Amino acid sequence: MQITEIYKSLQGESTHAGLPCVFVRLTGCNLRCSWCDSEYTFKGGVRMTSEDIMSEVKRLSPAGGLVEITGGEPMLQERDLLPFMQRLIDEGYRVLLETSGERPLAGVPPEVIKIVDVKCPDSGEGNTFAEENLTALNPRQDEVKFVISSRADYEFARDFSHTHTLAQRAYAVLFSPAFRKDATGARDSSHCLIDPQDLAGWMLADEVPARLGLQLHKFIWDPAVKGV
Ligand code: SF4
Repeated sequence: MQITEIYKSLQGESTHAGLPCVFVRLTGCNLRCSWCDSEYTFKGGVRMTSEDIMSEVKRLSPAGGLVEITGGEPMLQERDLLPFMQRLIDEGYRVLLETSGERPLAGVPPEVIKIVDVKCPDSGEGNTFAEENLTALNPRQDEVKFVISSRADYEFARDFSHTHTLAQRAYAVLFSPAFRKDATGARDSSHCLIDPQDLAGWMLADEVPARLGLQLHKFIWDPAVKGV
């Protein structure tokens, strides 16, 4: 597989936020979200065998624990990735897969916890989510995330969640303010493209069955720092 980086940090998003986690970041993405903070994954990387990646995961987290497969879009390398994720499961790791849901997810091993980032219109990549993937969601573990940068994005996420009964289909539905991609310095919400307070207010007013998510790592480390 083509790999941009492998490192250990704290999980910053999802209901697993705050837990130690090994991140395996795959190279390449077929989308170009306007606020993407992972553009360095689009090219380059190093070729690693599944054996190499497993050795590095074990070195960083020998006692098991959480591994997040992310990118880029990891499902672009599904031929090698699917058996690798199964191997991680077999070796006792809990595996999170962060994906846009543009590629088919039905073949993902059932134990893998899918975190599906449905793109909102202001990302510039709206309408890329493949709706057949809704049937691949496991309501006992999978999560659906919306990264929101405007009131229009919020309304899209609210209406999409309602239309597709996401609160029943997924274990968690997350509404997360988008971060300015060139954010640097202050570790606070001043870099959010939408004020979390506004988003919280809208969610409460509409009684949306979702939880507000903040990218924890951007409040711990400088938002410009990669590999954390
Ligand atoms: S899908 Fe993820 S990696 Fe790809 S452009 Fe969007 S935010 Fe960036």
